[in-house]
Parts: sequence; structure tokens; C-alpha cells
Amino acid sequence: MSDEYILVTGGAGYIGSHTVIELINHGYKVVIADNLSNSSYDAVARIEFIVKQHVPFYKVDIRNEKELNQVFSNHKISGVIHFAALKAVGESTKIPLEYYDNNVSGTIALLNVCKSNNVKTIVFSSSATVYGDVTRFGDNSMIPIPEHCPMDPTNPYGRTKFVIESILKDIYDSDELWKVAILRYFNPIGAHPSGLLGEDPLGIPNNLLPYLAQVAIGRREKLSIFGNDYNSHDGTPIRDYIHVVDLAKGHIAALAYLKNLQSKGLYREWNLGTGKGSTVFDVYHAFCRAVGKELPYEVVARRAGDVLDLTAKPDRANKELNWKAELTVDDACKDLWKWTTENPYGFHIDNYSWENFDGYNNRLHSFVNGPLKVNLANHGALIQKVLLDGVNMVKAYDNAADFKDKSNPFFGTTVGRFANRVAKGQFELNGKKYQLTQNEGNNNLHAGFNGFDKQDFLGPVVKHKDGKFLVDFLIVDKDGNDGFPGEVEAIVHYTIDESSVGIEYECRLLSGEATIVNMTNHSYFDVSDSANIDGTEVKLVTDQMMEVDAELIPTGKFVANEYVTDPIVLDEKKPFDNCFIVDDDNCGIDTRARPLKKVFEATHPKTNNKFTVETTEPAFQFYTGDGVNTKGFAKRCGFCVEPSRFIDAINHEKWANQVILKKGEVYGSKIKYGFTKK
Ligand code: NAD
Ligand code: UDP
Repeated sequence: MSDEYILVTGGAGYIGSHTVIELINHGYKVVIADNLSNSSYDAVARIEFIVKQHVPFYKVDIRNEKELNQVFSNHKISGVIHFAALKAVGESTKIPLEYYDNNVSGTIALLNVCKSNNVKTIVFSSSATVYGDVTRFGDNSMIPIPEHCPMDPTNPYGRTKFVIESILKDIYDSDELWKVAILRYFNPIGAHPSGLLGEDPLGIPNNLLPYLAQVAIGRREKLSIFGNDYNSHDGTPIRDYIHVVDLAKGHIAALAYLKNLQSKGLYREWNLGTGKGSTVFDVYHAFCRAVGKELPYEVVARRAGDVLDLTAKPDRANKELNWKAELTVDDACKDLWKWTTENPYGFHIDNYSWENFDGYNNRLHSFVNGPLKVNLANHGALIQKVLLDGVNMVKAYDNAADFKDKSNPFFGTTVGRFANRVAKGQFELNGKKYQLTQNEGNNNLHAGFNGFDKQDFLGPVVKHKDGKFLVDFLIVDKDGNDGFPGEVEAIVHYTIDESSVGIEYECRLLSGEATIVNMTNHSYFDVSDSANIDGTEVKLVTDQMMEVDAELIPTGKFVANEYVTDPIVLDEKKPFDNCFIVDDDNCGIDTRARPLKKVFEATHPKTNNKFTVETTEPAFQFYTGDGVNTKGFAKRCGFCVEPSRFIDAINHEKWANQVILKKGEVYGSKIKYGFTKK
């Protein structure tokens, strides 16, 4: 892969985010610069989740040449797709100076930086509004609208696009090495088919479909249809609605076209539209079909500035760019409805907030659900805090840097791709021997030096459904990392309700025939509200544990633990670091269909707090933290309950199928940590 990047300004926005996905799907590397004035970083987190890779992001205002130049210094930029702009027609008539400053001055600043870095390839987001009211020609000669139609924008927003096109033309005229693609969009609609990305208008939406979507989910009472006395088949105005994914693909086509010019330059405009006009009622009916019911509307007076027909003649783009819109208004309505139902308030979710922990890659996410406040971070998809009525029940650092300290005892993290020990770091799979890194004496512990706990997960995708927060983190672990075969994708799904943090793990092979997987969570819990867990009363579902040798590797036998009483009162003279057996019933690679079984309960006589563990897993490691010695925390500051497969299962024939993940299969497991009052 080339080390060249495409800079996408405004890449966190509606059209930009969809285009970034298409760019990456087409093999481009992308860097995003966006000041987030009309978007949210959550869109970028979701882009990363969809494309399963990191996308560098800079919170930069394009008017800030110095900061923008830094982006060019950090990445070798070969071309720019320039979306960043303010875009509300009505607003532009109220605050024209802001529009000229943001859009025109912003573009001048961007072009200055491009020029000084010798980057001369640019794709620019223009708009059909530059044509103005094409019915002014009277004879329908400009309907559908061709690119040679004279420009006559009717509002300040449209005029910023006209001015920018003119600037780009002048630059090309002064230096014909520039390659400039002007893309004039018609009416972008719809959302990403994944339901993860879409338009997220702030305040009351101006556009037809975003407004209608809010009517459909009950945020607005009814749609106002602005006039039904136009000269169309049903009296409402005609527009050329184009699915945002088709529009995004148009940018890839334009970029490829510019690239194919080799050393020649170009300045050229292309309409991006479908060529097919739809009336307001056509679109209204299509959306009602997607929703499955009639939505309330009222016909009101015409909206000032609206014209009868704005339909593209897209032939130039069809022929020259070899691009054609393929999706229909019905497709767009279906995707918009999915986006709307799954994200009724766009990226905004009540009682969820985040801040950078140590940058955008690793953010600290806070969720408040009734008495529970839970913090999660991207690093290791870790649980940083669980407060029950303000009392902390999880021990971990309060700043990101400390998590990277060598003495960190895996605080809060997801451990994988292989939790616990692999004897001598060796195993055999499909007749082939593998040597893993030996990071604990002879053995491999918790996957080695670069396990899931050491990496930043992508995402999260956060949703709120039925009173619960659903939070998904994703990681791609490379083939050969710490010696493990095959590239895998693992997803950590958290479910946070008023009394528990549920975790569901999923892992799939992306390359190779087979690998081994065993995932769990390594939080240090505490119900004592103090620095030491002694005195905690613990109930275990079983006293059967694995017999292990001096290196904590199983002998293959189960034995009873002499300290297991009912309840056990934790005491430093009776430390635990043992694997307890819940079920020896050949669970297979995916335990998620099994019922959650309560395996652990902890209370403390001095507090009112209760902690429970339920799981679908066949075993759990119970560790009383006797080895902890790190900044701010001493031994026995908390205990761990890590549901998982049997230790070193791969090296025991009768257990091996618990951990062998084959191509096409899914590793799965569930844990539910409960935090309640006694
Ligand atoms: P959007 O508001 O969702 O995206 C624009 C992005 O640019 C936002 O993320 C915003 O934060 C960012 N931005 C704005 N000013 C910036 C600045 N000074 N520095 C850095 N970032 C800045 O809008 P969109 O619908 O995705 O539109 C993208 C482009 O397409 C715009 O140029 C718009 O004018 C053009 N366009 C949009 C439509 C439409 O109907 N959506 C139609 C025709 C043309
Ligand atoms: N429209 C409407 N009600 C609304 C918003 C829009 O009837 O609440 C109509 C508007 O008159 C136009 C069409 O829908 O005919 C598309 O309007 P939009 O603002 O989405 O895009 P425009 O074509 O104006 O850029």
C-alpha cells in the first residue's frame, strides 16, 4: 500500500463520513481534518468501526493555516477532497459574513497550504444551488440541468460555492498542473446501510427527509409541505434525490479520473445526480413505505426561494467518470429509517459523554444509568470505574498514562486473544507447531507483550435501547502478533443497565484456517470501599478447581479447594489465584447460547454493596490481587473474577475444542457483573 494519504476536510460530516468509508474500501489511506462545528467525533469512531482500521483525525479549522500545515507535515498528502463548509441556505442569508469567512476564506487557507506543500489535486463539494432558478430560461432548455448551464446562485451559501469554483478556475488558469474536480451535488439523502452513520442535523432540520424522519420517530408533530400549486404531476416541487453512498462513490470516480490524467492538469465540473426527478409527495410516500405507516403532514404556503424543478443531467459524470447513481429513493428511505430508529437523536445520547483520555484513539466514556456510573476506555476496551451511588467498586488508575506502566496488573482490561497461561508458550494446531512469546517465565500469559489489554480498541459504537446502554468496541489483531496464527477481529459488547455491566465477547478469524481464543475481563473489584479487600465475604458456586503445578499450569486433574467455605471471609493468609470449574461439559467455542449461571457473590459487613458474577463460561479464575504493587494501589486492593475457558486448554486434548477457533466459526461468551445493594 502506498504511504500517500487523501486529506478529507469535513470528513466527520454527513457526506464526508460516507466518502471516507468508500475511499478506504477502495484502498486509499485517509486523514480527516474537521473542526467538528457541525459534526461529532463519534462519526469518526463509527467510520473506524466499519472499516476496521484507524483513521487519523485532526480537530482543525481549515482557516488555521499553521495547524493545517502540520497535517501535511505529518502525512504525505497526494490529494484533497474538500467538504468543510457551512451549508444552511437560510442561515447564510442571516449571517453571510460567517459563510464567506468559513467557506471562502477557509478554502483560500486550504489552497495556500496545498500550494506550499505542492499538492495540486483537489475534489471540491459544490452544489446544484450554483445554477439558481433554472426555470428562468422559460423554455425548459436547462431542465434537466447540464454543467454548461449559466450559474446564478440566489443566496449567500450558493454564492460562496460560486466564488470558490471561480477561485479554483483562476488557480488552474495560472498553473495548469492543478487537477480540479468540481462536483455539483443535487439532493443527498439516505444513510449508511449499516445504520451506523447518517445525517445528524442540529436543531430543527431544514431538509425534507431529515424533517420527515423526525416526524416518524415522534420528535416533530407533522411535516409541512411547502406548496402544492407547482406545475408537477402532484403539484409539489421536483428534485433529484441521490443516495449519499452513490454520491460518496462519485468522489472515488472523480479522484481516479484525476489520477489517470497522469502529468496533465484539468479543471472540470460534473453534476452528481440521478437524472430522475421526484416530487415532495413521491419522497413522502417512499418514506412512509419504509416506515410502514402514513405520517402526518399539512400543505402550507410555498417556501421563499424554492423553484419548481432541479433535476440533474448527469450524463457527463456517467460517461467521463464512469459513474452512475445506482440506488433508489426507496433504498435511501430504508437506510434513513434504519439510521433513525437505531440513533433517534443522532450521535447524541442522554447520560453518555466522553472526553479524550490520551487523545481521540483512547477516550474515556462515561455512562450514567440510575445509581450506576460506569467509565470505559478504548485502551484494552477497559472498565475504568464503576460507581454505585458514588461508591467505587472497581480499582484502576484515573489517568491514561498510568495504564501503560509496566507494573499495571491488567487493571480493568479485556484480556485476549488468549487469556491466562499457555504452557511454555507452545501449542500445536492442524499439525503445525506454534511458539508464542514467553512473557511470564517459560509461559505465555494473557497473550504476551502486545495482547488486547495493550491496544486501543476502535469505536465504540454507543446506542441506547430499552433503558440500557449498548457499547461496542472492536479490535483487529494481526496475524503473528505475539506468535498467534491468523488475523482476528474481536468485538467487546458492553450492556450497562441500572445494576449491572454485561459483557459479550465475539471473535472471528479474518485470515488463516484456525487460531486459539480465550477472552475475559481483568477488573479488580471491591465491595469494601477501602484500600484492602480483607473481610469481604465471598460465595463461590464450586470448590472444584484445577490442580496446577509450580508454574500455575494445569496437571489435568480437578481438586477441591480447602479454603472454600460458605461464605469465605477473605484473609491475606488464604490468598486465591485459582481456576474454579463451573462445568466440565465440553462447552465448545461459543458458549453464548448457554444460560447465564451465577458463579460468584461478594459482600462486606461494613458496606451495603453487593457484587455478583454470572457467566456462560465453564470456569473462572479467582485472584485476590496479592501480586499488585503499582502506583496508588497495593496488594489485595481488589479481587478479580475472570470467567473463561480452562487454563492452557489447547495443550489438553479433552479441553482443546473449547479454544480452537476455525475459519467461519465465532468464538463467543458472556459475563454479567452485578453491582447492587445488599
Ligand atoms: P456537514 O455539515 O455534515 O459536513 C461539513 C463538515 O465540515 C462538518 O463536519 C463541519 O464540522 C466541517 N466544517 C465546517 N467548517 C469547517 C472549518 N472551517 N474547518 C474544518 N471543518 C469545518 O455537511 P454535508 O452535508 O456533509 O456537506 C458537505 C459538503 O457538501 C459541504 O461543502 C456542502 O456545502 C456540500 N453540499 C451539501 C449538500 C447537502 O444537501 N448536504 C448539497 C450540496 C453540497
Ligand atoms: N420541503 C417541504 N417541507 C420541508 C422541507 C422541504 O415541503 O419541511 C420541500 C421543499 O419545498 C423542496 C423539497 O422539499 O421542494 C426539498 O427541500 P430541501 O430543503 O430538502 O432541499 P433543497 O432542494 O431546497 O435544497
